[in-house]
Amino acid sequence: MKILKFGGSSVANSENIQKVIQIVSAASAKDKVAVVVSAFGKTTNKLIAAANKAANNDPSYIVLFNEVTEHHTQVISDLIFKEKQSEVQEKVNTLFNQLQTLLEGCFLLSEVTPKTMATISGFGERLSSYIISEVAKNTLNATYKDSRQLIITSNIFDKAQVKFTLTNKNCQDFFKNNPHQVTVLPGFIAKSENGLTTTLGRGGSDYTAAIYAAALQANELQIWTDVSGMYTANPSIVKQAFPIPEISYQEAMELSHFGAKVIYPPTIQPALEKEIPIVIKNTFEPTHVGTLIAKDLKSTNLVKGISHIEDITLLTLEGTGM
Ligand code: ASP
Ligand code: MG
Repeated sequence: MKILKFGGSSVANSENIQKVIQIVSAASAKDKVAVVVSAFGKTTNKLIAAANKAANNDPSYIVLFNEVTEHHTQVISDLIFKEKQSEVQEKVNTLFNQLQTLLEGCFLLSEVTPKTMATISGFGERLSSYIISEVAKNTLNATYKDSRQLIITSNIFDKAQVKFTLTNKNCQDFFKNNPHQVTVLPGFIAKSENGLTTTLGRGGSDYTAAIYAAALQANELQIWTDVSGMYTANPSIVKQAFPIPEISYQEAMELSHFGAKVIYPPTIQPALEKEIPIVIKNTFEPTHVGTLIAKDLKSTNLVKGISHIEDITLLTLEGTGM
């Protein structure tokens, strides 16, 4: 079993989603695959901005809401077979209606609580995963599963802590009886012990994929993004930077904690514990090898990369009293 995770830019529009389907199709020819998807590019930012606008009594939240609905409707009309379009659109409309009601609620109450924000910001993955599962069904033996039925967390709504014992059991039970070659699941969202939608933090879809990889003892976790791996330095600043072919879990963890944005830092831990190799790949250049993150690699480069964090002030306090 392999876990493939596709980020927001990989699923940003119909053309990119078709590339994703090709990658999934090739991968699922050999292995069963779980496909974890982010929200369509920019959707999560728009949802959060819409909720904040509504809570500030700014009626222009509706402009953002309309952009989100138009974007998803466009993908449905581009990629779902004609005879199924109205069925898929109807299900998606139910989600749009719920989202609109929640935003109206924020507007009327002039507030957005962390609980409401988690629910609103999670709509991006609920929409993208459902739509992509329907696109996958056009040509593949695919099914859909809501991650909120599998990943259980604490009651902290934003960046919730995963309850691993329960989560692992749910994942194993579900996949044991799942005959489909491809299962599409939303990243980022989970469910609290008392049944409410929570999120795993911004960028958390990578972590979702790692949770599944570890629970199912997958033989590989693939993180598909818009660059060809983890770079030796930020390529927008350092022109000579290049993708690192192989890196250890420890080194990757350090680079990601200290500014390398290609992978969400908590992602590495679950994979490391089970020694599942992580491969970072480029959806737009799928033949590039990308970066392999694994244990004890025999690389000769002592220094693997340099990451940096901007806007940091370092204070050194000195004195005899310390
Ligand atoms: N959609 C979420 C975000 O933008 C999670 C993710 O993409 O990883 O933060
Ligand atoms: Mg990301």
